[in-house]
Amino acid sequence: AKASPLRSWSRFLPEMDEEMRERRSLQADLRLAMDRNEFDIVYQVQCAVSDGRVLGYEALLRWNHATLGEIPPTEFIGPAEESGLILPIGEWVLRRVCREAASWANPYKVAVNVSPVQLVQPNLPDIVTEALLDAGLSPSRLEIEITESAIISDKLRALHNLRRIKNLGVSVAIDDFGTGYSSLDTLSSFAFDKIKIDRSFLMGVKKDSHSRNIVKAVLGLGRSLNLPVLAEGVETEEDLELLRQENCHEAQGYLFGRPQKLSSSDLASHPQADD
Ligand code: C2E
Ligand code: CA
Ligand code: CA
Ligand code: CA
Repeated sequence: AKASPLRSWSRFLPEMDEEMRERRSLQADLRLAMDRNEFDIVYQVQCAVSDGRVLGYEALLRWNHATLGEIPPTEFIGPAEESGLILPIGEWVLRRVCREAASWANPYKVAVNVSPVQLVQPNLPDIVTEALLDAGLSPSRLEIEITESAIISDKLRALHNLRRIKNLGVSVAIDDFGTGYSSLDTLSSFAFDKIKIDRSFLMGVKKDSHSRNIVKAVLGLGRSLNLPVLAEGVETEEDLELLRQENCHEAQGYLFGRPQKLSSSDLASHPQADD
């Protein structure tokens, strides 16, 4: 018999209910996570393609849930954005990273991911200013990473905030480049300091010429705008060799190091590729 539309729809209801409950309890747990000290920051090294020397680190958030263990950011950043919890969490990240970086023995740059939701808050530049001042970190050591979608949602507000943040002396990188829309428009309407090519293009780079052409195109764009380009997700020597051939400036990925906890003593002894 033909199922009525309502009947077939209702088959999904228990599942949707379950999903909604899960999401709600994840958000409830997120709300508690800061008080419970469940967040932590790990750092992934960024290196020069030419000689492998360390240029800086990207800070990445980790959530160690009391009972569920490690929950990846790809699972909790979305819900944190939807609930607005990304605002207190993002502020915590900024403050924490500035404080940690200020204690490093070597004055490497540190890059922090800033959510589109944070980027359109009028007080973001004040939060960045305070985080720098409280930590005593030089603004030139901080970079913020934003995605293209961040700028599309409320372009005027985003660009206004980015200008104020840049005026502090903080640099701005465009993250996951190539995955969004209006790339050229966005790039030209704001003076970014760096382009990060999304990991997905590196993943295909050995297998298909399509990915390779995209990497080449982004590098060409970087050259014409006079912007350094960083390739994410560099996992093999082969990846690195290709980037060398194409004159890519910077690279980040498991080949150089996984994201890890860094204490100031780790950093003092961090091996430089050319020592
Ligand atoms: P992202 O900003 O594109 O960060 C790079 C991601 O790629 C990280 O995943 C990193 O661990 C992973 N990765 C680095 N090298 C390699 C590699 O060679 N191979 C592979 N397969 N993966 C690699 P992670 O830490 O799970 O973070 C995922 C995403 O969550 C980030 O993507 C970023 O969008 C978001 N995120 C992380 N921390 C924060 C944060 O503090 N604030 C905000 N708003 N978002 C964050
Ligand atoms: Ca990033
Ligand atoms: Ca990225
Ligand atoms: Ca990404």
